[in-house]
Amino acid sequence: MTSNSVLTGQNALVTGASRGIGRAIALTLAKEGAEVIVNFSNSANQAESLVSEINSSGGNAYALQANIGNEAEVDGLIKKIIERSGRLDILVNNAGITRDGLLMRMKTKDWMEVINLNLNGVFYCTRAVARTMLKQKKGRIINITSVVGLMGNAGQANYAAAKAGVIGLTKSTAKEFASRGITVNAVAPGFISTDMTKDLNAESILEAIPLGSFGTTEQVAGVVKFLAADPAAQYITGQVLQVDGGMVMS
Ligand code: NAP
Repeated sequence: MTSNSVLTGQNALVTGASRGIGRAIALTLAKEGAEVIVNFSNSANQAESLVSEINSSGGNAYALQANIGNEAEVDGLIKKIIERSGRLDILVNNAGITRDGLLMRMKTKDWMEVINLNLNGVFYCTRAVARTMLKQKKGRIINITSVVGLMGNAGQANYAAAKAGVIGLTKSTAKEFASRGITVNAVAPGFISTDMTKDLNAESILEAIPLGSFGTTEQVAGVVKFLAADPAAQYITGQVLQVDGGMVMS
């Protein structure tokens, strides 16, 4: 990290940053000079070790626990960040879960849990940061959706509905916030190697990926970094950038 790093002087909240894609996003934004707030829900040790890794390599990070599916906890999280850092420049809505099953047998609880974290959580966080970003007349909101939200997927009706909802939320918020210097975009990964995808049947999935492999968490993080950076992404809002090896071409 140097004083010329593209995000120097800014801070970024990454939800669900203790593992997987969120972890890579936190590391990447920290390398670019941002102060990173590592949100986690259960994995306290992993969050703390990520914070140590960032801070010991010259970066700046701290961890805050909050269940992003809980409105009051999200409001408390954003309040703590504003008290401690005085501002919030970049919000990366990354926390997500799956509870897969065919629709006919899908339990209401599995539907609700996925919609609650993956869609309501994005709403709670976006609303909670809005006042601060509107006052700053500056902000970047980057929502991690999924190609499944564009194409649907048997066995993931709950997840696909939530991720499609995130795309609608992204575009609507982008229109509401554009005049105040805040951009809102979504990143739609295809299949990325993380805990979330470790039990999937790789062979059948690979056939559907023109570039022939799963993506890496760093590849998703690179696109998030691009969307967070000025001036590169200053004129981009309301867009969905796919990082999917060519799986979905529209
Ligand atoms: P992952 O490896 O399972 O990690 C999920 C992260 O979300 C963890 O850090 C976890 O933190 C956090 N989390 C879970 N419940 C939470 C809650 N209630 N509040 C706050 N944080 C919570 O998943 P991933 O593959 O990195 O996925 C990250 C995002 O990318 C998700 O939105 C996912 O839908 C999306 N995505 C993933 C893929 C893929 O192929 N992997 C593809 C498309 C989209 P704790 O361990 O601390 O609970």
